[in-house]
Amino acid sequence: MKKRLLSTSISTLLLGLSVMPAFADEDVTAWRLFVADHDKPVVNVIDALDGDKLATFNVKGPANLSRSESGATIFAIQGSAGVVSTIASGIAFHDHGDHADIDIDAPRLLPLELTGKKPGHFVERQGKIAQWFDGEDSAQILGESAVLKGQKNITKVNVVAPHHGVAVPYDNYAVVSIPNPDDASKRPVGARVVDLQGKKVGDDALCPGLHGSAGSGDTFALSCETGLLLITQKNAAPVIRHLPYAKTLPEGSTSTLIGGKGMQYFIGNYGPDRIILVDPTESDSFRLIQLPTRRVHFVVDPVRAKFAYVFTEDGKLNRIDVLKGEISQSVRVTDPYSMDGHWNDPRPRIAVADNKIYVTDPLKSKIIVLDATSFKKTSEISVEGQPFNIVAVGGSGKVHGEHHDHEAHHHDDDHAH
Ligand code: ZN
Ligand code: ZN
Repeated sequence: MKKRLLSTSISTLLLGLSVMPAFADEDVTAWRLFVADHDKPVVNVIDALDGDKLATFNVKGPANLSRSESGATIFAIQGSAGVVSTIASGIAFHDHGDHADIDIDAPRLLPLELTGKKPGHFVERQGKIAQWFDGEDSAQILGESAVLKGQKNITKVNVVAPHHGVAVPYDNYAVVSIPNPDDASKRPVGARVVDLQGKKVGDDALCPGLHGSAGSGDTFALSCETGLLLITQKNAAPVIRHLPYAKTLPEGSTSTLIGGKGMQYFIGNYGPDRIILVDPTESDSFRLIQLPTRRVHFVVDPVRAKFAYVFTEDGKLNRIDVLKGEISQSVRVTDPYSMDGHWNDPRPRIAVADNKIYVTDPLKSKIIVLDATSFKKTSEISVEGQPFNIVAVGGSGKVHGEHHDHEAHHHDDDHAH
């Protein structure tokens, strides 16, 4: 693919100040894709704008990837290897009030690792990370800033017994799942607020079959067989309320949730070939959408807030209009990927970056690129092996020229600013 001027200027920036020509304030856009292989302990970093490979990180096992809200850090959760590796995306934003500065550095595998038996669900909100371990009786909580500094400043919060659950971090608290008292290997039965010493705060919230969690706006949701738990925090301890499924819905429940960006809503699975849209502020909160075939993966569009995308096993990417509550467009992007077989077989995953949608095609060793506006395939990026889990980070910001008039800058001088 032809190099764009923008990429060239970013490369120049990476060379450092000494060789950089003086220029005035400039708007710079940078987006990176972090792509984990399905079988190999490898995370590739790709420049989303030109498809160039920027780095390959060798980790310890096949990884599930999560990014922080800020985009400064990526977490490679390697369930089989008992470790979570931390990665600095190399793209950071600094709020300057009326504009944001963008800092671009090389992506780096950081020295800090979180270790424990069977690392599972990962939640980050407001710069705080909660990493769950299915094989441990405590969850690990730490700050994103500590991760970037390589400080192993971890608080362990007791979760009664090892189980497949989740922890949601708040300032001086966490919401943690409650294991099934009869058999902790079964799904959790509820959630509770604890302080960082592990002491219970308030009443337990019932949530039979708890699995699935996502944040949207000021609300974090956990899905249950009976409905959703909605968590909000005003001042001190977070508060949990239960939103039951509407009586009009057919029998079923949600076990995977994603949360809207820029607009408050949740999308959950509801059986293999339907999804529900949830507006937590409406009394008639749930809208059911029938998919053409079974669902493989779904994401929200963080830029075009009213859209979400569902990849279905027929090889199609479906655009969901969240306001209308319907599929507004579908486009074939890969050969069919049947949901028969193992749940963790290599199948496409989606990420959105800037004005593009990226769909991994693991069996064809490539990433399909679609234009988010025209919703048409525009190009492909070849990736060795089986590109599987994918997250995108980036955005636009200002890079100031030589005479910079901001007082507050906390970055090192090893890169251009
Ligand atoms: Zn600035
Ligand atoms: Zn799970």
